[in-house]
Amino acid sequence: MRHSRRDFIQTLSAPLLAMPFLAMSEKHQKYEGPILRVAIMGLGNYGTRVAEAMKSCKKAKLVGVISGTPSKIKSWQAKYQIPEKNCYNYQDFDKIRDNPDIDAVYVITPNALHRDQVIRVAKAGKHVICEKPMSVNAADAQQMVDACKRAKVKLLVGYRMHFEPKTLEIIRMRKAGEFGKVLFFQGLSGFQIGDPTQWRLKKELSGGGAMMDIGIYSVNGSRYMIGEDPVWVTAQEVKTNKEKFREGIDETITFQLGFPGGAVASCLSTYTMNNLDRFFLNGEKGYAEMQPSTGYGPILGHTHKGELVYPHVAHQTFQMDEMAGIILEGKEPIVPVDGGEGLKDMKIIDAIYKAVQTGKKESVYL
Ligand code: NDP
Repeated sequence: MRHSRRDFIQTLSAPLLAMPFLAMSEKHQKYEGPILRVAIMGLGNYGTRVAEAMKSCKKAKLVGVISGTPSKIKSWQAKYQIPEKNCYNYQDFDKIRDNPDIDAVYVITPNALHRDQVIRVAKAGKHVICEKPMSVNAADAQQMVDACKRAKVKLLVGYRMHFEPKTLEIIRMRKAGEFGKVLFFQGLSGFQIGDPTQWRLKKELSGGGAMMDIGIYSVNGSRYMIGEDPVWVTAQEVKTNKEKFREGIDETITFQLGFPGGAVASCLSTYTMNNLDRFFLNGEKGYAEMQPSTGYGPILGHTHKGELVYPHVAHQTFQMDEMAGIILEGKEPIVPVDGGEGLKDMKIIDAIYKAVQTGKKESVYL
């Protein structure tokens, strides 16, 4: 039986209390707590989106930039009132160590640069937020985790869906047993990639193809939707355009993940098809379906109990306010976003690439 939307909203009041959504609805109340002062490294498309979303944050503020493009530094300085002393390039950003006005650096550059940049930021004594994928393989991710631990700084990965209210409601329902025993997850993640000259299609900068860039959403999503970590993977690759998707750049991979409780995930990662942004979770007592499931939103979703209804707020606004709470106040997120969490995804992606090569079921040790 499908419940009405009103019934559904009425059942939500208690669980909502745990959500960042409420913190946001209170944003017009005066906030007097600590503010995370952030420098963004890499002023590209996503860096710009994060900077714009941070304008609505109450606990995080953009105060600095690190860029290889002087003209972008100038325009960001004007747009976000960034003082000259908080501007760096890729050669001199180690000097951020001597800047008491910056707490954290958000690394938003091509994937293969993340490892060295994160390690340098850690050595400069600043907390780091690193975009997904956190690196291009598990060995690099491990080095990043170790470097941040040694430097006693926090390392978080830019998993914005971990703070998205509809996603969190499904996780709450799963934890409360509302789906019963969860047995199946489907994740479809893909888009048609354009410009063949972009860094995403160059292995030395991207570390891989669609799997690194967009397939990671299904990898990560399968874990937070099912609530377990996989123990095995199988995977198959299809390549229709070997010129555009050269050696080391995967175009389409289908993969399956097995979980200790008996659930399986069946997923698709592609750079060749649009309209693929869908999660489906099935349990013995109910289901959840989201489409779009990880795009910039609004996320649309429903469960066997009805439509999921929350106002849309830019994901990066939630994310940065919550990450400020994690870094400055030691807040525990509902779904972890630390380097260890990113490392797990890199281990799974390594195993997926291995399974493509061997054609065998590969064990995953997380
Ligand atoms: P862009 O190409 O738009 O921007 C990357 C920026 O990195 C560039 O503008 C440049 O900034 C800097 N950069 C430094 N070195 C290089 C280099 N050798 N080649 C190219 N750029 C360089 O990429 P995106 O912003 O889309 O992606 C950046 C990261 O963010 C990736 O890791 C990606 O996976 C992640 N991402 C995450 C999303 C999410 O939803 N969480 C969404 C989109 C991307 P400058 O000129 O200032 O030096």
